[in-house]
Amino acid sequence: MQRRPFGPTLRQVSIIGQGTWRLDEGDKASAIAALRRGLDLGMDHIDTAEMYGDAEVMIGEAIAGRRDDVFLVSKVLPGNASRAGVQTACERSLRRLGTDHLDTYLLHWRGDIPLEATVRGFEDLRAAGKILDWGVSNFDVGDLNDLADVVATTGDLGGPVCNQVLYHLQERSIEHAVLPWCEGANMAVVGYSPFGHGRFPRPDSPGGRVLAQIAADHGATARQVALAFLTRHAPQFAIPKAGSPAHVTENAGAGDLSLSPVEIALVDRAFPRGPKPRGLPMI
Ligand code: NAP
Repeated sequence: MQRRPFGPTLRQVSIIGQGTWRLDEGDKASAIAALRRGLDLGMDHIDTAEMYGDAEVMIGEAIAGRRDDVFLVSKVLPGNASRAGVQTACERSLRRLGTDHLDTYLLHWRGDIPLEATVRGFEDLRAAGKILDWGVSNFDVGDLNDLADVVATTGDLGGPVCNQVLYHLQERSIEHAVLPWCEGANMAVVGYSPFGHGRFPRPDSPGGRVLAQIAADHGATARQVALAFLTRHAPQFAIPKAGSPAHVTENAGAGDLSLSPVEIALVDRAFPRGPKPRGLPMI
């Protein structure tokens, strides 16, 4: 499993991690076994959120006794993201997860609460050792600029270490501006829904056939090729959600797959980036 520094942190984090949205809707034992298998295979980055219901509790069960193997990320809902609100939301998540700290805590998306209040709340949590770092999710360039202004004008606040954004073969909007912005700011870019939230290209589609051909040349699978493509740039990570050990094992295999420039160009052509949208897509 390839690892790379997670933004400005000195942490080496697996390029393929584990998403957990809707993990609590499937077979619980299988999902917990999947998380553990992922950790065994070096997928240390586990992504969750207070919004994901019982997923945090299931993660708590999966990581019991092996907290040090995990790069644990959770998210606060925008409505809870006041300076005081992030404290209580974080405490709730820590309790559900059965841990005393998060590796990174994210603002799930931007809401109405001023960014400075949220950042001060995050910094309070950092000072208390309850989170090691903080970041954002679903931030477009305008939001990132506003956040940079808050950090610069206050002077005494740390900065975000990552931006978690929608990114899959049929949704490459971040490549226009968000990805370069984050790379310039030395932030990690974590691509969510890398399999299109369950809508992966069919094997008999033109794009699916391109993935299958490249996969066959590597003795790999189409999903592994997709994940390798989505993590081809230095700041990138992907967090597929998998509810079974078999799926997680397949996804982990992408962490050792490198595509040649020619193969990257083939995938690029089969799944074009498309025009720059007005706003950053999110789900
Ligand atoms: P996804 O990872 O794109 O797709 C998940 C689907 O792919 C599930 O149906 C899963 O089935 C299937 N799958 C996974 N591995 C597979 C394999 N090897 N073979 C066949 N099917 C496979 O969707 P997602 O859950 O939307 O995104 C991933 C994570 O990103 C989330 O879980 C969450 O942690 C994060 N996320 C964040 C935000 C945000 O706003 N920040 C938004 C959305 C998602 P099984 O469950 O049966 O394995």
